Amino acid sequence: PLANWNGTQMPLSEAKVSVLDRAFLFGDAIYEVLRVYGGKPFLFDDHIARLKRNFEKLQLPADADIIAQRVRETVAASDVTEGTVYIQVTRGVAPRIHRYPTTPPTPSELIYVAHFKDPYQELRKVGARVIILEDLRWKRCDIKSVNLLANCMAAQTAYEAGCPEALLVDGEDRLIEGSRTSLFGVRDGRILTAPLGQNILPGITRKLLIQLAGECNVEISEATIHRDDLPKLDELFITGTTTEILPITQVEDQTIGDGTVGPVVSQLITAYARTIERFRQS
Ligand code: PLP
Repeated sequence: PLANWNGTQMPLSEAKVSVLDRAFLFGDAIYEVLRVYGGKPFLFDDHIARLKRNFEKLQLPADADIIAQRVRETVAASDVTEGTVYIQVTRGVAPRIHRYPTTPPTPSELIYVAHFKDPYQELRKVGARVIILEDLRWKRCDIKSVNLLANCMAAQTAYEAGCPEALLVDGEDRLIEGSRTSLFGVRDGRILTAPLGQNILPGITRKLLIQLAGECNVEISEATIHRDDLPKLDELFITGTTTEILPITQVEDQTIGDGTVGPVVSQLITAYARTIERFRQS
């Protein structure tokens, strides 16, 4: 893959980082993943805006506009038409003390562009089975930091169970989101999704989904989905930048609705595909 490491374009394999980088020592870093369709970064402004908000949350003195420019240049210089962009910005290299250094170091800034092929083309047609796990993450899941160990553990447990994703429940059995996706239910023709807060990542695909629901005249409410609600749901699905939209037809032993991909999610998948096609042509 082609990278831009601290402003210099190079093969990703040539980018090197110090062991004193605060991402290595503390996980003190923010990241973004976005999609490239038709050689162009998708929902670019939304991803850059989230990056900027995360910099502010961590008092990380990096310039999201400069990074945005480098993303454009790196995508243009790469041979990727269908792919992903990974962005990671760390607080930089400094002697190991927990608090932010008094004199801020120069942030370490990585961008790379890679080919990516939709892994769920077939599964999307039939729906997936997922498992439920306790949400072991910290209390600021709104911050898109690279501290992803709890997410990695959940993803590994799901993988070992033969599932593409794990849904995370809090202490009150509320379904928050997936380990790397946003979660939506459908009941009586209305979409439900957990409200934004410090326990959830404000997904960019979630935002697009809400917009598409509006265009499809499907009502959507930000309402918590409880574990006990699962038998009453007609449909369930997850969204994410690389996942796009994936219908969930079974949660552990519970079949959702009639166990097939429902009409609401089907309509949204069509609307999503249309949006991407329009973007590719634009
Ligand atoms: N929730 C979590 C915990 C995630 O890690 C992600 C993506 O990485 C998402 C939701 C989906 O967010 P987005 O649609 O911005 O990719």
